[in-house]
Amino acid sequence: MKSHILNLQRRSQQLEPNAEQLASLFDGLQNFATTFLNNLGSSPTYRATDSKGIGLLGSPIAEDGISLQACLKLLDENLVKQGLNPASGGHLGYIPGGGIVYSAFGDFLADITNQYSGIFFAGPGAVRMENMMLNWMADIVGYPSESAGNLSSGGSMANLIGIVTARDARQLKSGDFCRSPIYLSRQVHHSVDKAIRIAGLRECPIRYIPLDERYRLRADLLEEAVVQDKQDGLNPWLVIASAGTTDTGAVDPLPGIGQIAASHELWFHLDAAYGGFFVLCDEGKRILAGMDASDSIVMDPHKGLFLPYGSGAVLVKDGRKLFEAHYYMANYMQDTIDSRDELSPADLSPELTKHFRGLRFWLPLKLLGIKPFRAALEEKLLLARYFHARLQEMEGFEVGPAPELSVVTYRYLPKKGGANEFNKKLVQEIHKDGRVFVSSTVLDGKFTLRLAVLVFRTHLQTIDLVLEILQEKVDRLQRS
Ligand SMILES: *Cc1c(COP(=O)(O)O)cnc(C)c1O
Repeated sequence: MKSHILNLQRRSQQLEPNAEQLASLFDGLQNFATTFLNNLGSSPTYRATDSKGIGLLGSPIAEDGISLQACLKLLDENLVKQGLNPASGGHLGYIPGGGIVYSAFGDFLADITNQYSGIFFAGPGAVRMENMMLNWMADIVGYPSESAGNLSSGGSMANLIGIVTARDARQLKSGDFCRSPIYLSRQVHHSVDKAIRIAGLRECPIRYIPLDERYRLRADLLEEAVVQDKQDGLNPWLVIASAGTTDTGAVDPLPGIGQIAASHELWFHLDAAYGGFFVLCDEGKRILAGMDASDSIVMDPHKGLFLPYGSGAVLVKDGRKLFEAHYYMANYMQDTIDSRDELSPADLSPELTKHFRGLRFWLPLKLLGIKPFRAALEEKLLLARYFHARLQEMEGFEVGPAPELSVVTYRYLPKKGGANEFNKKLVQEIHKDGRVFVSSTVLDGKFTLRLAVLVFRTHLQTIDLVLEILQEKVDRLQRS
């Protein structure tokens, strides 16, 4: 038996690279990363390919491994050179993400040390770090020290945690659902609808509050609806607002909603997954005034703080409510209960063992300080305004409302033929070109193009390039 065990040990020890292998891994990875970063400026933002990464399947998982070089070649061909390149400054579609290099090193260290960040007892430093980042967020949002939060995988999970917390804080029971309306705007992100359903609340009547001309929820009509429902003997309990919306970047009237929520005892959940971090710059802070009136707030560091995907966050003003909705104790966890000086992520979310997300958040902020983040956010706001202004100087373009944050909606009005058809072709032409990537939506039945500025690598010259490409494609479509 011993010899068999030792035999197995020899093989299993391959899981640990020796010094020489380690050096060669670092070398190969450094090469790959540097080449990728150096080429970003000249690589397409979007590549429509037929293969769509199918080459990966040509190299199945097998008993024996292949070299790092062979793996990196597979990645380059099947991932990097396929579809959208979200790391590119030319990514201006949907809500762009981030991907600062500093976070990658944070992840690297988190994975190498494999710190356990679920429970304070096991990973006091890791949990303290995550709570420190959440406290910092609470601070910039204007939440009190009794608030608590969770670093989640993204905004969708964060919305779910917030809505579940609201449900339990309002002590809603299944029998109450059908007489307990939820108030929101048709412009909420679909993850909110999803969260309502997953939280078991699909029987709650949904009151879609009409919007103003800038696609913001109308606070006066919110109050009317709540008062009406109360008169009808219903139990209004939750209002969900956005700052800003995914479609148009609209920020709902937060102070007004906050007041109505307070006077009618509604839980005020604010989805600021996209726009929340703009509070770091003065202009954003002005636009987001009143965000601290919410009871829970969602903010995505993988959007507004330029972190790589997999970084969302939820904060709850009364931290106990978050704890009460998610806390659990099992016999096999009995050693962990003594450590109450810091709340544990496992007690504040559906997760137990999880990725140590704090380090990818902490490291860049420690290395760089807050200043470059503030500057980048203000720059993105101004780039959207610049685009909006420049587009108005170009013949034939119709622009949406002046951007509150960094989303601009626009379309081209062709001299002949339908505008919807034309703009659909326009966006297809831009995708085919691939130098930049923009996406589209439908507003009031009109096919509309969007520009969403949020990649930290997007700068003035990127926006000038978009304007140039738009003109070029419009001219070509007009001629054909
Ligand atoms: C992106 C976004 C979400 C969803 O967040 P994920 O991180 O993609 O899960 C929710 N709400 C808004 C307003 C968003 O922009």
